[in-house]
Amino acid sequence: MTERVTGVTLRAVNYKDSDRILTVFTLEKGKITVSAKGVRKANAKMKQISEPFCFAESMIAEKSGRFTVTEINSFDAFYPIRTDLYKYYSGMTALELTDVFLPDALESAGQFVLLVEFLKKLAYKSINPLNLLLKFIYDALNENGYSINLASCGRCGSLIENRVFLSVKDGCCVCEECKKQGENGFSIDTYDYLNKIQSGDLQDFNQENAKNGLKFFAYYLSKVAGVSLKCLTTLIDL
Ligand SMILES: [Zn+2]
Repeated sequence: MTERVTGVTLRAVNYKDSDRILTVFTLEKGKITVSAKGVRKANAKMKQISEPFCFAESMIAEKSGRFTVTEINSFDAFYPIRTDLYKYYSGMTALELTDVFLPDALESAGQFVLLVEFLKKLAYKSINPLNLLLKFIYDALNENGYSINLASCGRCGSLIENRVFLSVKDGCCVCEECKKQGENGFSIDTYDYLNKIQSGDLQDFNQENAKNGLKFFAYYLSKVAGVSLKCLTTLIDL
């Protein structure tokens, strides 16, 4: 049986002499594993789909629960993402996060749209890639059941000033009066920066605050989801 799917290639692993095994996040079937035959040959027609970031419509054939791609129509390979290290690792972090968050075959139109829109902006808009990634992670947490409330103190609702603490358990930031034992404080500058980002204001860029924001999310992800992202660590160390 052959089906048409629209997807983004998250990951590709070489297989045999000229094949690749792909992890593709599709709109119709969620995350699936697909083999792409002959794509490492010089003039392979379906080469594009075997590269991460490729956004394409493809025909896949199913045989005993395994998929093989037979035809592709590439919409966008988001080439400019590969021309800058910050763009590249921001993009790779988004792919890796999508890969670890979504179990196989779980449809998520919300996450799909989020990812494609993020890749478009990363490739073609002049917005700092770290700011774009912070917004993507914030939205992806929301989409996948790990939302974090940054707007005000999660316990008393008042605005947080001067000192801020993170409650991993409750998925919120809290003020000094509401802080419980074991809830660690973090920089108010980082907090203010993340708040601006989550509200959609991505224009002002500050390298130190952005990197601290990424560290904040790396810590939060490790605590709430037990997830550690290799590409995010590389990006923070750039
Ligand atoms: Zn409070």
